[in-house]
Amino acid sequence: MSADGPNIVLITLDTTRADRVLGSDRAAKLAPNLTAFAAECRTFTAARSVGSLTLPSHASMMTGLYPPRHGARANGPQVLPPAALTLAERAAESGYRTAGFVGSLALDRAYGIGQGFDVWDQPSRADDRVTGEISERSGFEVAASATRWLANRAPDDDQPFFLWAHFFDAHAPYAPPAEYLERAGGDFYDGEIAALDAAFGSLLAGLRTAGELDDTVILIVGDHGESLGEHGEATHGLFVYDATLHVPFLLRDPRGDRAGQLDDAFVSVVDVQPTLLEAMGLEPDPTADGVSLFRRAAPENRLLYCESLEGWRLYGWSPLTGWIADDGKYLRSSEPEFYALTDDPRELENRWTVDFDDAVFELAFQQLARRSVLPAAARADLDAERRRQLEALGYTTSEHAAGDFPGPGAVDDGPSPAASIAEAQAVEDAIAYFVRGRLDNAAERFAEILESNPQNRVAAERLIEIRLAQEDWTSALDLLRARAALPPETIAVHRDIARCLMALDREDEAQPHVRRTLELFITHHERRGELEEAARYRRILADAPH
Ligand SMILES: [Zn+2]
Repeated sequence: MSADGPNIVLITLDTTRADRVLGSDRAAKLAPNLTAFAAECRTFTAARSVGSLTLPSHASMMTGLYPPRHGARANGPQVLPPAALTLAERAAESGYRTAGFVGSLALDRAYGIGQGFDVWDQPSRADDRVTGEISERSGFEVAASATRWLANRAPDDDQPFFLWAHFFDAHAPYAPPAEYLERAGGDFYDGEIAALDAAFGSLLAGLRTAGELDDTVILIVGDHGESLGEHGEATHGLFVYDATLHVPFLLRDPRGDRAGQLDDAFVSVVDVQPTLLEAMGLEPDPTADGVSLFRRAAPENRLLYCESLEGWRLYGWSPLTGWIADDGKYLRSSEPEFYALTDDPRELENRWTVDFDDAVFELAFQQLARRSVLPAAARADLDAERRRQLEALGYTTSEHAAGDFPGPGAVDDGPSPAASIAEAQAVEDAIAYFVRGRLDNAAERFAEILESNPQNRVAAERLIEIRLAQEDWTSALDLLRARAALPPETIAVHRDIARCLMALDREDEAQPHVRRTLELFITHHERRGELEEAARYRRILADAPH
C-alpha cells in the first residue's frame, strides 16, 4: 500500500530550554538556523512537556498518551509496552516508509520507543562500557545518518516517509565543539544549543538537497528543558517547574498554514501524535490525551497533565503530579503548590493555602485515572551482556514494576520534592566522592542522608555497596535488613544478606535468604518467558539445604 500524504519529519530536541532557541536576542545568536526557520513555522510559545525525563516524554509524543496511560514512567529499563499503537506504527500501516535516528541510548530500541520504524539507527551499545555514561552521539552524526538515508532512497521511490531525528547534544555532560562554545561566550550548555542548531541546519540542508522540502511537514519539539540551577536543580528529572517543562514546539506546514505566527495556546507533547496523524491524512485516536493542531486552532481552557516520580522512585519522596491551567500551575505532593504563571513565570511564590479550591484539578485527576491504560510490558528485553552493563551503571537496581507506580494525584507521606532538593544535592555530592574512589568520604555522606531519610534508596544501595567492598559484613547486614523492610523486594537484597551471613559463619540464618534469592530468580525468568533458565534455578532450589 502506498500512502499519498506529505512526508513527515519529527525533530526532537533533548534537554532544550525554550528560551534558548526562541524569541530572544540570545536565542537568535545561539540558534540562527531555528530562528530563521521559525518564519516558516507556527510557533507555540507556551508548549509543555509531560515531565522531565527522556523516555516518558518521547513515549507521550509517539502515543498521544500521558505517562500514567502509556506506562513508561521512568527512563529505561522501563518500557513503552508493545500494545502501544505508535505514530510510527500508524504511519507504517498506512504505507509510509519509517526511519528513526536517535542520539542517545536513553532511547534504546529495547525500551519500545522504536515500535513501527522499519529503519532504526542508534548509538552503539558497546560504547557505554568505555565512557561509563549512557552512549550518545552528536546531532551532526544523527543528521548525517538521516541525510544518508534520504539520499540513498531509490530515485523512483514515491512512497512518503516519516523520519524522526533526535538530537541529544544539550543533555549533560556539556561538551560542545570549541566553535560553538565560542559562539556561546564560553557557556557550556549554550554551546551545546549552538551545536544542536547547526546540526538542525545540516538536516534541513539534507532535506532540501533531497528535493523533499516542498512536500514535508516538520514538527520540532523539546522533550524537556534543563533547570540550570533554578529551584536548586542542576539538570532535570526531579521537578516539573517550567525550567524543565516549557519546551520549544514549532510546526511547519509546506502549505504555509499560520507561518510566522506565534501561538500562546497551551499545547503539550501529547499533541505530537494526533497532529502528525492528521498531517498524514489519518484519523487521530479520539481516546488519546493529545489533540491535533494541524491546520486547526488549539483548544482553549485546557488542563495539561505533568508528573515527576523520580524523587518517589529514588529517594522515597512524595509522588509529584499536577496540572497546568490558564490561571496557573497546580502541583500535588505531600505539600501542594500553586503558581500564578502570568505574574510569576519562574514559579518562585507558592500561592497554595489551606483554603485553596482544588476541585477542578481533583476532578481532572479522577478522570485521567479512569481512562484506559496500556497493559504493562515486562522489563526491557535486553540481552544478558547489556543488562550487566546497565547494572554496572546503576540503571537496573531494584526497579519498581510498572504497576507499582502511583496514579495521577496520588500522594503519600514522603517529603515533598520542593522541600527536599538539598537531599538530592547531598546525594550528588556523595556520588561524586564515590566515583572518585573516596569511599570513606562517600560512606560518611550516604550515612548522613540515610539518617535523615531512611527511604533514600540511592544512598542505601550505594552505602551497602561500599560496606560489601570493604568486607564490613556487620554494617552491610544492618543496612540490608533495613532495605529489605521496604518495597520492592529484590534479588540483590536477599543475595547480599546471604553473602554477609555466610561471611559471618551464620550459615543456618543464610539459608532462607539463599532460597528466597533462587525463588525470585525463578519468577524473574518465568516472567521473561525464559523457561529453561527458570527450570535450572528450580533444580538448584530443590537441592538447596533447608
Ligand atoms: Zn531528555
